[in-house]
Amino acid sequence: MKLLSTRTAVLMLLIVLFVLGLAAFNIRYFNSAFAWAHSHANRHYYKNGMLSVRGTVYDRNGDVLLMLDGESIEFNAEKDVRTAVMHVTGDREGSVSTGVLSALKGRLTGWNLFSGAYSFHKKSRSELTLTIDSGLCRAAYREMKGRKGAVGIYNYETGEIICLISSPSFDPQNPPDVEGNPEKYEGVYLNRFLSSAYTPGSIFKLVTAAAALENIPDIENKHYLCEGRIAIGPDSITCLKAHGRVSLQEALAVSCNTFFAGTALELGAETLQKYAEACGFNNSLEVDGIRTAAGKINLKNAVGADLGWAGAGQYTTTANPLNFMAFMGAIAGGGEMVRPRLIADDSSSFFDFKPGKKVLKRETADKLKAMMRNNTITSYGEEKFKDLELCAKSGTAEVGGGKEPHAWFAGFLDRKDCPLAFAVIIENGITSRAAADVAARVLQEAAKALKQGRNL
Ligand SMILES: [Zn+2]
Repeated sequence: MKLLSTRTAVLMLLIVLFVLGLAAFNIRYFNSAFAWAHSHANRHYYKNGMLSVRGTVYDRNGDVLLMLDGESIEFNAEKDVRTAVMHVTGDREGSVSTGVLSALKGRLTGWNLFSGAYSFHKKSRSELTLTIDSGLCRAAYREMKGRKGAVGIYNYETGEIICLISSPSFDPQNPPDVEGNPEKYEGVYLNRFLSSAYTPGSIFKLVTAAAALENIPDIENKHYLCEGRIAIGPDSITCLKAHGRVSLQEALAVSCNTFFAGTALELGAETLQKYAEACGFNNSLEVDGIRTAAGKINLKNAVGADLGWAGAGQYTTTANPLNFMAFMGAIAGGGEMVRPRLIADDSSSFFDFKPGKKVLKRETADKLKAMMRNNTITSYGEEKFKDLELCAKSGTAEVGGGKEPHAWFAGFLDRKDCPLAFAVIIENGITSRAAADVAARVLQEAAKALKQGRNL
């Protein structure tokens, strides 16, 4: 009996060890299998250290963006298109970490957790269709005219990103001497739309307005007298000029700093922080496995004029362009944010399915939408945005250090047939008009393409 129980105990111990070992292996496998399979030593996928797969990457209209044949990589036939979409495709050396060639290489190899590299051999040629329109990307890149910054446009109903460019860029077919021209190519490997965060300036007033609509009773019927300056303790908050008697809607249209500073003080740091986080700050988004940089807000120590300036978008707060574009999409979509995505034929997305996220109450979103429509009519000029039904907010963000301010323009089209939200940022663009001009031309181009029957 004693012998039997000893044997049973040993057997049980072995079983426990086996189960523990199996669990440990599975955890490691789930966490690291992708990296193991895509190690440069894996000769299924790599030859001489270069990704060696056969496949084609298309844009939404079937234009070839990228063709891989063993170690050879061919980009689009047109230089301007190659350059405009370079931050999406990536480059040969893999320096653009958010490009398809680096970030989505699992899609190109066809690798998955259950069949490993098996499907790669079975299919041997992978096809990947992206949601971007290469013609629109080319138009957007041209409009940047060599200035640093980024443009993004997405369909706020389907989440499809149709335009995504970052400037400066380069022709990946014939890479330039980046190190030899540090000023011209500063941050060229960075997709500024996905991976940067900038001072928001006045576009942040939309967040303050959202918080005010839900927390300050009867805010829409209140008026405030802007004298161009208010003193808060030893500091003061200033406007470019005295705006006179303004309502919330008028204050947003003329971008009155003192109104929004006063509003931020009335709301308090905690409430403003809560709304900023609900609107996407302090969060990064995932676009088909590519993580964006997070815009940051921390109002813990913001009191007096600091809190006032935060309400007007000038504090230590930063905004990521893609996240802000998604916030614009949420306002357009009645408070629900559809996540932006980049892959069109996403047949493997069963596990990745993410429902829309409620960001704002519908009533609040609709009120913001009406105010943003009013901004265009009374401040930005309807003529420039003819027939677009544009709802927008401009921003001029002071960056200090003797540098010119950044220019922002963000918003959406209130059109059922053209449900597009966008964000444009131009570094040191001086005035928001520069960003508004880029947005106007690219959005008109999008509307025209749609009229011509292009699938947007
Ligand atoms: Zn003012």
